[in-house]
Amino acid sequence: MQQPAAATTAQSRAPDWNRIRLDFPLLTRAVNDKPLIYFDNANTSQKPVEVIAAVDGFYRRQNANVSRAVHALGTEATDAYEGARKTLARFMSVRADELVLCSGTTFAINLVAYSWALPNLKEGDVILVSRMEHHANIVPWQLIAQRTGARLEVAEILPDGSLDLDALYKAMTPQVKLLAVAHVSNVLGTVNPVREICRAARKAGIVTVVDGSQAAPHMALDVAAIGCDFYAMTGHKVCGPTGTGALWARRELLDAMPPFIGGGEMIKEVSFERTTFNEVPHKFEAGTPNIAGFVGLGAALDYLGAIGMDAIRAREAELLAHLTEELQRIDGLRIFGTAPDKAAVVSFLIDGAHAHDLATLLDLDGVAVRSGQHCAHPLLQYFGVAATLRASLAFYNTHEEIEGFVAALKKARTLLG
Ligand code: PLP
Repeated sequence: MQQPAAATTAQSRAPDWNRIRLDFPLLTRAVNDKPLIYFDNANTSQKPVEVIAAVDGFYRRQNANVSRAVHALGTEATDAYEGARKTLARFMSVRADELVLCSGTTFAINLVAYSWALPNLKEGDVILVSRMEHHANIVPWQLIAQRTGARLEVAEILPDGSLDLDALYKAMTPQVKLLAVAHVSNVLGTVNPVREICRAARKAGIVTVVDGSQAAPHMALDVAAIGCDFYAMTGHKVCGPTGTGALWARRELLDAMPPFIGGGEMIKEVSFERTTFNEVPHKFEAGTPNIAGFVGLGAALDYLGAIGMDAIRAREAELLAHLTEELQRIDGLRIFGTAPDKAAVVSFLIDGAHAHDLATLLDLDGVAVRSGQHCAHPLLQYFGVAATLRASLAFYNTHEEIEGFVAALKKARTLLG
């Protein structure tokens, strides 16, 4: 029987995942004489040849500093850097002139902490953070609380690893001035309903900071639609180079905020008496940026865009379902984080086996997973465990790798007795 036209079209558009995997040279290497199974993608992603070539090409043909020189290379480097800003703005669905380029989420959140929170918070104010935050979205707020006299309060989670939304909304008292929440948890994979949360926060007059580090690799972002005040992301988790990332904020907030770091590039005029600052976003980009890194990030986002973030999300959902099903069959294995909406991250423990021992044995079989507290000590304290193993997937992983990983895990468990 002939296929209906729509099905044929949909099929011919489906990405060829086996071919896509070949774009990642590192995935072909061996570790401990075994084919590498890289399941540590929430930590950092691997890079396709397009990104490696873009960074290499920049240093071979265009390398110069941005915004300073009028010579041809200076202009080309500036265009390449600003081009990456525009590509990232499209990827996040925001305006390019509201996007501050920086080294990653850690810097982006610290920028909000020192440029927005420090001048705006005072004694008695409350900073609300969720239980599932990465340390990058806890420690800067603690430092600001110490300096301003504000207090940190915690929005708790439910046992399945989703946010306790009723408790969160109740916690939005008039004292709360800022809410810091992850879009996706790096440990549990929980996708938080940030749009709904930010709507409630806005009604309560609370400024919102969304940590998008773990959302950006897995889904199409529409930051404007989320309705937050600040959104932070990091480039190395979306197939881009390390040391790249961004903070998005509404223009009026950025205009009102004082600079965080001072130096070249962020000024209009300097005398010993006073300095006038450059326009937003350059006001927040002191010093020479990671130009080649951003050129690579632009290439990474073009690469992901060509595959399609919706296709990536669907592929990862399929891989996650397979991995979860396989793990659930293992006796004594407990998964942390079973929320209905999850990215492809699975944290777990097996009775009687220490996470670090399992990770060490898995490494001997060429499997890279993370073990430990995943920069989320308060979250692990909630579950009452000292460490977990975390397998985190990307679209370039395969069903065969999942089977290989599960076999290696069973073997490691047996070895540990
Ligand atoms: N927030 C979350 C949820 C993360 O997973 C990470 C990195 O693992 C970060 C923040 C910090 O990102 P970076 O080290 O790239 O600044």
